[in-house]
Amino acid sequence: MKAALAAAFIGMTALGAQPIRVIAFGAHPDDCDLGAAGVAAKFAQMGNAVKFVSVTNGDAGHQTMSGGELARRRRAEAMESARRLGITYEVLDNHDGELLPTLDVRKQIIRLIRQWNADVVISPRPNDYHPDHRYTGVLVQDASYMVVVPNVDPDTPPLHNNPVFLYYQDNFQRPNPFRPDIAVSIDDVYDKKIDALDAHVSQFYEWLPWVDHRLEQVPKDPAERKQWLAQQRQRRQITPEIRAALVKWYGPEKGNAVRQAEAFEICEYGRRPTEADIRRLFPMLGR
Ligand SMILES: [Zn+2]
Repeated sequence: MKAALAAAFIGMTALGAQPIRVIAFGAHPDDCDLGAAGVAAKFAQMGNAVKFVSVTNGDAGHQTMSGGELARRRRAEAMESARRLGITYEVLDNHDGELLPTLDVRKQIIRLIRQWNADVVISPRPNDYHPDHRYTGVLVQDASYMVVVPNVDPDTPPLHNNPVFLYYQDNFQRPNPFRPDIAVSIDDVYDKKIDALDAHVSQFYEWLPWVDHRLEQVPKDPAERKQWLAQQRQRRQITPEIRAALVKWYGPEKGNAVRQAEAFEICEYGRRPTEADIRRLFPMLGR
């Protein structure tokens, strides 16, 4: 795998292209995986650099575990997910269920975007049902632009260019529905996305089924439960709006054949990319 990545990297640099640097923020140590594990796997396979950041430590997301014990377990799950995807994962030590859009957390996010020298930043939209998701969206919005201002958090050198900020797909309708500006086929890395989700055992096989009152449906055997997880996820339909975006980026033949996709909306507060910029930042879309 390392040799393959090195070869991909050399291939890119030989063509004069710099690796793309992507940083994705989620409120909890499985949120980035849900929204962007497929795209992350594709970026990584092509020799680019991807980092997932969980803004909270996830220490409220379980029905029987809590506190430090749960935070340590979820951190280990996130690291395993990163290993499977070929990316970096960082879990910040803010409490789950208590996140607020404070100056302190905003600075944590500004520093991480600067240190990663990000070209692309991904976050939830700030109209999500969960307050931690909502405030993660606000915090990343508040960090956009500030990442280029030298006198804000001056100990971390500012970025020269404001990155492109994107939102993960969601299904919230108010005040406005998600708009899929970019849609990426993840058919060839769908197994990797399931591998990444499968690493979060405490979530996909324990906590989330318990919240949904269907814990008894989860198979006990690790291989069987992974298959069950893949089946649950496969039921998700591509919306007509995302299908239209796939056709736009891939053409009608390829775009209509895609079965699994991840889509993103462009945030107005970052750099406003042209279509050519998007094809450069998302090389998997082709020319
Ligand atoms: Zn979450």
